[in-house]
Amino acid sequence: VVRISNLRKRFDKNEVLRGVSIEVPDGKVIGLIGSSGAGKSTLLRCTNFLEPPDSGTLEFDGNVVDTTHASKQQVQELRRQTAMVFQNFNLYKLNTATENIELALTHAKHYAPKKAHETSLEFLNKVGLHAKRNSFPDQLSGGQQQRVALARAAVLRPKLMLLDEPTSALDPENIGEVLKVIKNLADEGQSMLIASHEMNFLRRICDHVVFMDQGVVKEEGSADQIFNHPKEDRTRQFLSGVT
Ligand code: ATP
Ligand code: MG
Repeated sequence: VVRISNLRKRFDKNEVLRGVSIEVPDGKVIGLIGSSGAGKSTLLRCTNFLEPPDSGTLEFDGNVVDTTHASKQQVQELRRQTAMVFQNFNLYKLNTATENIELALTHAKHYAPKKAHETSLEFLNKVGLHAKRNSFPDQLSGGQQQRVALARAAVLRPKLMLLDEPTSALDPENIGEVLKVIKNLADEGQSMLIASHEMNFLRRICDHVVFMDQGVVKEEGSADQIFNHPKEDRTRQFLSGVT
């Protein structure tokens, strides 16, 4: 299990996270929804110390890190346990699809080159891109680039995958293929925390949905509960604006 507890983060006077707690049981997919500026991206970035939280604890499999006093080693360990997928893919532009994945394996997992290559091809196959293995990012569609990015994250077998608006930079015709890959990873038991505005997708994939509003968790529950029977006015208001 991964536990994010009472996480706080401020940028100058702007208190962006005001004590956020979220639990991700093993193999579960948690959806993160909320208006622009609610703090979803900041929460994801604080979870792997891309952005250092001000306070709160992060627990991975019983290892509790007090984020105020995290050692370098603890931060490194947190980063090893997570893998992030961004809205804009962030692939290495000068490397092919297969090299992008190989580099993740040789850097983060110290795989030997041959094994990294074989594993990379296996994961490209998984996301339906074996044929594009030697293509560079700018030779791929947005959807294909995002599938490479998903393979590059999943190949590390992270304890938790952090996905920040994985489909929001894509053309409508490319969204479906990316959602399918995410769904497959979820079905394989990969734990994920996904910030997204794709309510219909979240409805299908999430075990649990968290609605964030102005830096706090306003309401959470099963997808059915949140999408079909929200309790809070604020949740209803938000959902009526986007669906
Ligand atoms: P969106 O749905 O638009 O992606 P979000 O829920 O992801 O929104 P965040 O990106 O987490 O929202 O931003 C929350 C608040 O934190 C915003 O007011 C934003 O301006 C502020 N913020 C985020 N990152 C920084 C930063 N590096 N420096 C200063 N302020 C920041
Ligand atoms: Mg965001």
